[in-house]
Amino acid sequence: MLKEYHADLHIHTCLSPCASLDLSPRRIVERALEERLDLIAITDHNIARNVPAVMHQAEKFGLKIIPGMEVQSREEIHILTLFPDWPSLSAWQDVVLEHLPQIPNDPEFFGDQPIVDEEGNILEFEERLLINSIDLSLNEIRSQVLQRGGLFIPAHFDKESLSLISQLGFVPFDLEPDALEMGRKTQAALLPDPRDPSAAVPRIVCSDAHQAEDIGRARSVFLLAEPTLGELRLAFQGKEGRKIVSLVLPGSSEGQGG
Ligand SMILES: [Zn+2]
Ligand SMILES: [Zn+2]
Repeated sequence: MLKEYHADLHIHTCLSPCASLDLSPRRIVERALEERLDLIAITDHNIARNVPAVMHQAEKFGLKIIPGMEVQSREEIHILTLFPDWPSLSAWQDVVLEHLPQIPNDPEFFGDQPIVDEEGNILEFEERLLINSIDLSLNEIRSQVLQRGGLFIPAHFDKESLSLISQLGFVPFDLEPDALEMGRKTQAALLPDPRDPSAAVPRIVCSDAHQAEDIGRARSVFLLAEPTLGELRLAFQGKEGRKIVSLVLPGSSEGQGG
């Protein structure tokens, strides 16, 4: 039986230096439930050390978490990398941290990077600055993610910075992303120009929440059998009746389908 699932697949925790410190696992789960989201992805910058705590917290309330990470490529392009389970994400995190420059964080300038428990108690601080490019290209990231059974989704792909369009000017025809996340400011133009070669790639919207209030502000509604990464993949491919039903933006109750 297929049913509609509301998903916000791009949410930061307090571990991202640019995110609010109130984004504890407990608060994230609370907000997702308030917003009636069925599944969310946790995607901190170049790290996943707060994902297990969010997964444990969510499990108590039957909320489904897709474990993920927002990686910054050598070309300064942000990519959402989403995985079927924690072990595959953990293995990917090891690779990313190996390729992250050894530059210490300056909390005064960039913000703190706390690793927390489910309640938000600080266990330790991540000392390496997380908002940096890793030494892997877009294509290297893609092949590593695919090898691990993950989804490769360029983040805010049409944004004016740190995106495919800002860095390359186009979506490379051989990149074959699973989907494209639309930037928050450009989400108004939901339907791509049919002459655009990337028009065939499914598009999603997410909140890219850096503070608790933003969770669920933009979301994608999917028709799935269950809230899993495998089902999301089927929806992106439009297979077996799975699909993206609608894109919901701030201020609108329903967006256009896509
Ligand atoms: Zn980003
Ligand atoms: Zn982000």
